[in-house]
Amino acid sequence: MNVLLLGAGGFIGSHLVEDLLLHTDHRVVGVDCESGKLDEVAAPLSADILARWLFHKANIQESKDLLHDVIRTADVVVDLIAYANPSIYVTRPLDVFELNFMQNLEIARVCIAENKWLIQYSSAEVYGKANGGPYSEDDSDSIFGPVRKQRWIYAVGKQLLERVLYAHGDAGELCYTIVRPFNFLGSRIDYLVPSGATGGPRVFPHFMSALLTGGPIRLVDGGHARRAFLHIDDGTAAFRAMLAQPERARNQIFNVGNPDNELTMAALAQLMIELFEELTGERSCSAVEAMSGEQFYGEGYEDGDRERPDVSKMRTLGWTPKRDLRATVREAMIYYLGDRVRFQ
Ligand code: UDP
Repeated sequence: MNVLLLGAGGFIGSHLVEDLLLHTDHRVVGVDCESGKLDEVAAPLSADILARWLFHKANIQESKDLLHDVIRTADVVVDLIAYANPSIYVTRPLDVFELNFMQNLEIARVCIAENKWLIQYSSAEVYGKANGGPYSEDDSDSIFGPVRKQRWIYAVGKQLLERVLYAHGDAGELCYTIVRPFNFLGSRIDYLVPSGATGGPRVFPHFMSALLTGGPIRLVDGGHARRAFLHIDDGTAAFRAMLAQPERARNQIFNVGNPDNELTMAALAQLMIELFEELTGERSCSAVEAMSGEQFYGEGYEDGDRERPDVSKMRTLGWTPKRDLRATVREAMIYYLGDRVRFQ
C-alpha cells in the first residue's frame, strides 16, 4: 500500500513515518516544510528500508500541483497538517483558520475527487471545555468559550472540519477516519525553549527546558488543569490498528489516549522534577511559579480542563494503551536529557 503523510515532519508525523517503515511493508511518502525530525528518523535506517521512503520538502499551501500528484498516487492519505500551539491561536487566528481549516478542506476535496481514504488527525480539543467527561466520540457534547476568546478558533476549526468530513461521508462521497489524539508524549515532541520563555510549544518541552536550564517552571493558572498523556508508541500502534482494519475504521471517529495516565499540570511538574533528579543525579534548580494564562500565551487565552478520553471504541480494533504515566514521561525526558542521563 502507498501511504501518504501530509505534515509528516511534525512530532506525530515523524513517529508514524518511523513506525510504518520499521513495522510494515508499506511505501511511505511524506510532505512537510520541515525536515529536521525526519532526518533524525532516517539516519539509523538501512538503505533497504529507506528505499520505501520518499520525502518532498514543500510548503503545501504553495504547492497545489504536488498536492494533487501525491494524492493521486496514494492509497491512503493521512492529514496531520495544523498549527498546534495556543500562542498562535490567540496571536494569528486567521492563519490558524487558513491552514487548519481551509487547507485541510482542500485536501479533503482532492481526496473526494480522487476517491481516496482520508485519515484526518483532529484534536481532543473538539470537546472544548470540561463537561464532565469521560469524552466519548459519538455522544459527548462540546462547549467552547466566547468568540472574543480567540483560543477557541483552533478547536472550532477542527470541529467544523470534522463535521464537513462527516457530511461528505454520510452522502457517500468520502471514506474518512477521524483521529482525536489526547496529549501524545514522546521523543521529538516540539522543541526546547530558552529559560523563562512563554507561549511556544506544549507543556512537556516547557518543563523540560526549565529543568535543563535551571529556569522557572511556569504553572499556567496555578497548574490545576488536568491532562491524560499517551505514550507516542501507543499512538502509532493505534494508527496501525486502523490501517489494518479499513472496514472497521472507515467513516468512524476515534479517541486515542490513555485515560489511566491523567494528572494535573502541578503534579506533572513534581513528577518531572523527581525524574530529573533520579535520572541525572543532580538537584533541580527550577523554581515552580504560577502565571496567568493571558500572561503566558497572550490575550484571548482560555483553557479547557480536559478530562479523560473514553477509548472503548479504539479497543474494539484490538488496541489498548500499554505504557503507564511514569514510563511515558521518563522516556521522553531521557530523549531530551541526552548525555546528562547517568542512572537509567
Ligand atoms: N502549561 C503550563 N505550563 C507551561 C505550558 C503549558 O502549565 O509551561 C499548561 C497549559 O496552560 C495547559 C496544559 O499545560 O493547561 C497543557 O498545555 P499544552 O499546550 O501542552 O497542551 P493542550 O492544552 O493542547 O492539552
